[in-house]
This record gives sequence, structure tokens and C-alpha cells, in this order.
Amino acid sequence: MAKRDYYEILGIDKNASITEIKKAYRKLAMKFHPDKNKDDKAAEEKFKEASEAYEVLSDSDKKQKYDQYGHAGLEGAFGGHGFTWDNFTHAGDFSDIFGSGGLGSIFEHLFGGSFGMGRSPRSNNRGEDLQISLSLTLEEIARSVEKKIKISVKDTCDKCNGSGSSDGQVQTCNQCHGSGQVRQLTRSLFGQMQTIVTCPSCNGEGKIIKNKCPKCSGDGRILKTKTISISIPAGVAEGQYIRLRGQGNRGKRGAQSGDILVLIREKEHNIFERDGSHLMCEYPISFSQAALGSELRVPTLTGNVKMKVPAGTQSGKIFRLRSQGLPHTNSSYHGDLYIKVRVITPTRLNSEEKDLLNKLSRFDLDKKLNPEKSFFEKLKGYFV
Ligand SMILES: [Zn+2]
Ligand SMILES: [Zn+2]
Repeated sequence: MAKRDYYEILGIDKNASITEIKKAYRKLAMKFHPDKNKDDKAAEEKFKEASEAYEVLSDSDKKQKYDQYGHAGLEGAFGGHGFTWDNFTHAGDFSDIFGSGGLGSIFEHLFGGSFGMGRSPRSNNRGEDLQISLSLTLEEIARSVEKKIKISVKDTCDKCNGSGSSDGQVQTCNQCHGSGQVRQLTRSLFGQMQTIVTCPSCNGEGKIIKNKCPKCSGDGRILKTKTISISIPAGVAEGQYIRLRGQGNRGKRGAQSGDILVLIREKEHNIFERDGSHLMCEYPISFSQAALGSELRVPTLTGNVKMKVPAGTQSGKIFRLRSQGLPHTNSSYHGDLYIKVRVITPTRLNSEEKDLLNKLSRFDLDKKLNPEKSFFEKLKGYFV
């Protein structure tokens, strides 16, 4: 069947203005509307035919191609498969014809509900994510802890129960007719393309509130202070985030809630320094402890432990205590603790101590120093 001329379908001449084109289409759309022609396939066909004609003639680009080349000029204009209802972009201009349900409702009518399946209004109203920072001591990081934090969160407005409306009256959005989505034409290399975007008027909700709730100004949310508890796994590190899903700001008017992002901060420790899962610490010992050897009680994050220092330990020597560092998140592995001993030279000596040190100095201690012996010999040669 040869395609009919678009001007002929709409019953207008080639010089018709856009207003006349629109008027002609409106008349036909009303006449062949499926509501008035139940189960009439011919009327449905005419309705679609007129819509296609209007889609072309109301678009200056398509109209020009059609005027110049006829139907051949529009091959590929509708995705190469000819006009379908998906190509119709003007439902929003004829809300009286397409009804408050928008394009969706008429398609359901035409195609028995297949249109719009899985197309619930998708809104931009998801609640915002909130970020908080949480300072932890190394002791807290060493084990998993539960922290309670007070935070200001946008929560459901109790005056309107989150609806945002003072009287419960909600209007269907004029632009998208409740679908929450609108079709948008964009130009590309392949000609015009249709994309479906969130309706800008209603932000994808499909609804517009008539009288806004005075308490929340139609937002459906108000600021509330809430206590949240956060369980922190052992071994977390500075700069890491913990995401608490759905605990952020509530979405507007019942939309999905945002998240809370907990940024981990590490408090400086007065003894330990952290290097990944390892810990470092400096430990002062006396000259006699270093020379004679000794058993020390050194600190760890979970209490003191014994550590043996052998006789003849040099200042700066590092001892490793296995698995006394921090745990790894998600594994049983523990880092190590490194203890660096520092031999303290005594100051403010009493006379007895001075005597003892004097006696000690009479022994040729430098000969016993090993392996630095050669260094002292070199030094002697230098001054002679
Ligand atoms: Zn409210
Ligand atoms: Zn809308």
C-alpha cells in the first residue's frame, strides 16, 4: 500500500502554517482517538497515520526533507523502521487529547499495556549523600569498634508525612503527564535522535504539588538530629571511607535516601607511628641495660609485653615483635611492631654515680667496642 501524502492526511495545503497544521492534527486526533473508537482498528490506524504526518510536518527539518523528496526523504528518519509511537514527541502538546496519563496511558490502551512496562517514574529526588569524618585512635583501629555519632539529617516531615502537600492534593505534571520522562530530540551524525530524559518540570516524579506544606515548603523533609551507630572494622586507615547505605538525607517526597560517607581520620599517637599495618616505637634504655642485656616491658596497643635485649645492644638497634602491629581489614593477618632502642646518656649525676663512671673509664673500654674498634684506632692516628 502506497503511503499517503502527509498534507492530504491532515487535509491541508502545502503552504499551511504551523498553527494550521496543529489545528488540523488536533481535529483528526480527536476524531480517531481510541477512546471514541473502541476496538476500531481502522480508526487506530488513522490516528497513527495523522500522528506520523504531524510529527513530520511540525518539524522544520523533516518537513523540508519531505517537501523536497517526498517519503523517500524520510527513509531512516524514524530509526529505519518507519514511524512507531515511540517516535511521537508531541503528546505533551496535546494533554487534552493524550490525557493526564500522558503518552503512557494511550499506549497502554493501544497495545494492551505493553508500553511502559518497567517504566515507573524515575526521579532525581534521591536524598543527598552526607559526609562526616570520624577520628579514631590507633587503639580503636586495632580492634573493631562501634561508634555512635549525632548528625543532622533531612528526614520525613511529620506535618505532611513526607508528601510535601498541605492538603494531600497532587496534580499530574503537565509536561510529562505523569510518566516522569520526556522525549528529547538531539541531532547527531545520523540525523535526529530521540532520547528519553527525566522531566524537568516535575523532576521525574510525574506529580506536582498544588499547595505546599508550610513546614517543609513542599520538600517533604525537615532537618532532624539523629544518632547513628557505625561499626568500624579493625585495621582501617586514614582517608578510607565507610559507606552507610540509605542513612543519608531522605529523598524528597518519599524518594530513595542518600548514603552517609564516613571518612576515617587517624589521631596521632604519642608513642606509636604507623606504617601500613606495622607500628614503630622508640624505647629508651640505660647504658647498663644495653651493655649487660635486660628484659624490658615494652608497650603494645593491647598492653605491655616482655622483650629481651641482649648484652651489648647498640643504640638504634631495632627489634621486631611479630604480629603486634595492626590487623588487616578482611584478613587475619597482623602487622608487626618494631621497637627501636635508644641508649640514654645520663645527665645530672650524683657523686656516687660519677665515681662509678670514673672507675669504668679507667678500663680501656674502647678496645672492647666492637665492631667500631677500627674507627677508634683511626681516630687516634688522626690526632697524633
Ligand atoms: Zn511537610
Ligand atoms: Zn513532569
